[in-house]
Amino acid sequence: MSDKYDVVVIGAGPAGYVAAIKAAQLGLSTACVEKWLDQKGGVRLGGTCLNTGCIPSKALLDSSHKFAEIRDHLAAHGISVKTPQIDVPAMIARKDRIVDQLTGGIASLFKHNGVTAISGTGKVIAGTKVEVTDGDGQVRVLEAGDIILAAGSVPVQIPPAPVDNEFIIDSTGALALSEVPARLGVIGAGVIGLELGSVWGRLGADVVVLEALDEFLPMMDQQIAKEAGKIFKKQGLDIRLGTRVTSAAVNEGKVEVVYSSADGEHTEHFDKLIVAVGRRPRSEELFSSDSGLTLDERGCIFVNDFCETEAPRVYAIGDVVRGPMLAHKGSEEGVMVAERIAGRQAQMNYDCIPSVIYTHPEIAAVGRTEQELKADGVEYKSGVFPFAASGRALAANDTDGLVKVLAHAETDRILGCHIVGPSAADLVQQVVIAMEFGASAEDLGMIVFGHPTLSEAVREAALAVDGHAIHIANRKRRK
Ligand code: FAD
Ligand code: NAD
Repeated sequence: MSDKYDVVVIGAGPAGYVAAIKAAQLGLSTACVEKWLDQKGGVRLGGTCLNTGCIPSKALLDSSHKFAEIRDHLAAHGISVKTPQIDVPAMIARKDRIVDQLTGGIASLFKHNGVTAISGTGKVIAGTKVEVTDGDGQVRVLEAGDIILAAGSVPVQIPPAPVDNEFIIDSTGALALSEVPARLGVIGAGVIGLELGSVWGRLGADVVVLEALDEFLPMMDQQIAKEAGKIFKKQGLDIRLGTRVTSAAVNEGKVEVVYSSADGEHTEHFDKLIVAVGRRPRSEELFSSDSGLTLDERGCIFVNDFCETEAPRVYAIGDVVRGPMLAHKGSEEGVMVAERIAGRQAQMNYDCIPSVIYTHPEIAAVGRTEQELKADGVEYKSGVFPFAASGRALAANDTDGLVKVLAHAETDRILGCHIVGPSAADLVQQVVIAMEFGASAEDLGMIVFGHPTLSEAVREAALAVDGHAIHIANRKRRK
């Protein structure tokens, strides 16, 4: 096997595998080095996203949503069922089958596109070379025309709550529980805390979420965050803001958590404790000191807008570099970098990356929040449409939440869209497309939307920007 490639990618997560496939499609000989092993010792593709992130968490969110629907929401439709039971091992096995299918799918795509998967740990050494150490400690050196680093991220650990993978677990452990914990503690009311707290809460766990900050979801538009907070409270998620965990110790099969808040010190006992306080880039031991690469203050590999590192012909993409830790952000960077290596003019619009929290209802956003626009002194107008006024949401008995569209006060160009509500992930994508085409709120309001759809709420919010909504009483009226 040749050890010379046009492109060597390190990491086969959604950033790396997409970059590798795209590079191969563009006619470049491409290898992708991955250290994750499957149960038989073979190379396991797909990274965090497919194995322990996006896909398995969504599989469990969908399973638990169906369970909660049957238990709590069918009576309203006139449907009665006997008390539903959850078979946790069967639910986890379904999730594992989906993961296997998708990771196997990446292997097929590699084969189809002619990408060589190489099992081992990759490290960049000087002169666009990659040193690969396999599971047996054998070392080989690959010569690369260009290198793409896509090593991803790992969960942040905190000293008061060391993960033991049995009682105190991270997100990976929380995707593989064998039974529903009666009492579940979660440290961190971020994306993972809310999604995995929802999974086990829907299945019957009594969930307490301990969040250090005083504000709930501070990066989200605050109107949406407040609305979401109310909905989660109604669902029984006990989110305690402004809490500082000082210790978590396992005692007689329970985790004893001590935390302080404005009203003093508290002790709680949980069957499991999930630590979900963020992720950090996996940038250590990825390159030699003479490779020319540098890290920023957060430990991310330093890159410019085109994902070029400070070492010539070495690029870095995905969670290992600045920006939101989202699968689609890394994948798009992968496409951009592969195209630039192939000599094309490619760039990425970092202002138009959607983000979603897959609770029910979902929370989705693109662009600027109202508080960001205020802070930057941008003159804006906003339009809001509640799902309670949507015929389709009412028909589905799913009326919590709202759509909010923000547009520039003078140009009317859409600056952001924030949604908490049913199918928010898919709804926000419509505004992402509109924003990519530089649409105004008026443009969005002039488009015909099928009826009855949840999408109509997006159009109505766009119309509401100038007081033209049809199905709510407008606050401001225009001639
Ligand atoms: P990763 O997916 O982490 O892949 C990096 C790969 O590199 C890994 O396979 C690793 O083994 C390999 N590697 C590392 N170092 C080396 C080395 N030296 N040599 C060889 N191989 C190496 N994002 C979303 O957009 N939507 C979601 O719904 C979503 N849900 C999530 C749920 C959970 C529970 C978690 C934990 C994350 C979720 N994310 C989600 C985030 C998403 O998983 C990450 O943003 C994404 O996986 C990052 O892609 P990546 O390719 O940069 O890194
Ligand atoms: P996060 O940054 O979303 O949330 C972490 C939360 O923990 C924050 O609210 C933070 O204030 C809090 N926190 C930090 N230290 C704490 C402490 N000592 N005590 C109590 N609270 C503390 O991080 P996450 O939920 O771990 O997710 C990690 C990354 O994975 C995120 O960046 C996210 O982008 C990605 N992810 C995305 C999705 C999705 O797109 N649906 C799903 C899961 C994860």
